[in-house]
Amino acid sequence: MDQKTPDAAQLDPENPGPITCARCGTTADGPPPTWTCSVENGARRYFCDDCARANIRAIEGRLDSSWW
Ligand SMILES: [Zn+2]
Repeated sequence: MDQKTPDAAQLDPENPGPITCARCGTTADGPPPTWTCSVENGARRYFCDDCARANIRAIEGRLDSSWW
């Protein structure tokens, strides 16, 4: 049997499954173009529209958690 079966569970490193908002937990099926991506401590965090708006100053200012 050398029939190839598509592996639906195969992870694409560029797109590792549903994206979750780091603040409210909302999930999206793909990388939403309107979401904000922030890299904190080497980890990617996504914020949905509403949360990005609420956090825009903290994100843009790159405030360390020690600051607040
Ligand atoms: Zn959110």
